[in-house]
Amino acid sequence: MLPTVAIVGQPNVGKSTLFNRIINERLAIVEDRPGVTRDRNYAPAEWLGHKFNIIDTGGITWEDGKIEEEIRAQAEIAIDEADVIIFLTNVLSGITDLDEKIAQLLYKTTKPIILAVNKADNPEQRVNIYDFYSLGLGDPIPVSGSHGTGIGDLLDKVVDSF
Ligand code: GDP
Ligand code: MG
Repeated sequence: MLPTVAIVGQPNVGKSTLFNRIINERLAIVEDRPGVTRDRNYAPAEWLGHKFNIIDTGGITWEDGKIEEEIRAQAEIAIDEADVIIFLTNVLSGITDLDEKIAQLLYKTTKPIILAVNKADNPEQRVNIYDFYSLGLGDPIPVSGSHGTGIGDLLDKVVDSF
């Protein structure tokens, strides 16, 4: 069984963008048939020879889902099914109430949690990642899913946790 990595985080932090970016790190194996990758929330990925499956938990939708219930369900899927959890936050918004709620849910697991701070597109934004230490989940890793920066450092940390 391949290790499973789950991305959790509130809506709009950039989970799907990061998910697609991680899948595309292994260009050779990704299918590029139209419609195949677009709505996928579970996919094989590889970094430095380490193969794993990645889940975009936010891409799983529930009928009548209230945001707080969706967040709780995302965290439960991650805690139950993942070997490593990427908790994605947003440097532009700073820490939000929903981030605090997700952090509370994640405190319950002993599985490795990697705190990534997205939208750190430039050096001015990267200095603000230090605020995220207060979530109590270790070193925040700055990433920019849309620019593709920091993804290698994040994946190094992911595969080190297997
Ligand atoms: P999700 O709801 O967590 O899956 O977030 P999405 O991946 O759908 O992204 C939400 C919005 O944030 C979109 O408009 C993205 O283009 C934007 N976004 C995602 N990653 C970044 C990033 O690294 N930097 C910036 N500036 N915007 C981003
Ligand atoms: Mg999404």
